Amino acid sequence: MKLHIERKFNAAHFLIDATDRERSKSLYGACSSMHGHTWRVVVDLEGPIAKDGMVANFAGVKAIVDKLDHAIVNDFVALPTAENLVLYFLDMLRDRFPILSEITVQVWESDTAYAEDTWTNPRTL
Ligand SMILES: [Zn+2]
Repeated sequence: MKLHIERKFNAAHFLIDATDRERSKSLYGACSSMHGHTWRVVVDLEGPIAKDGMVANFAGVKAIVDKLDHAIVNDFVALPTAENLVLYFLDMLRDRFPILSEITVQVWESDTAYAEDTWTNPRTL
């Protein structure tokens, strides 16, 4: 069974190379200064229906995203690019729902730009 969940959160972040702050300005431009986004997270899950009648509790998925709402994302992800946020959410979802066979996460940083990755549970191959 497949589930599809979308959630938005508002938060602040900045992109910085902790080993070379001067380089960060040229590498990340204006994004090296603290600024905010309304991120959209799109989660597609696949797995068996458990005894509770659910593949994954929608509220549990939303709670993972909501944890970053009105936060400074750098407190959770050291270099919070859209790509690294995808990996963060994949980790959180794998830990919370270990019976899932596949998880795809998209993190939209704007209306026109997103990062996406898919994890497939090796135990279900
Ligand atoms: Zn940004």
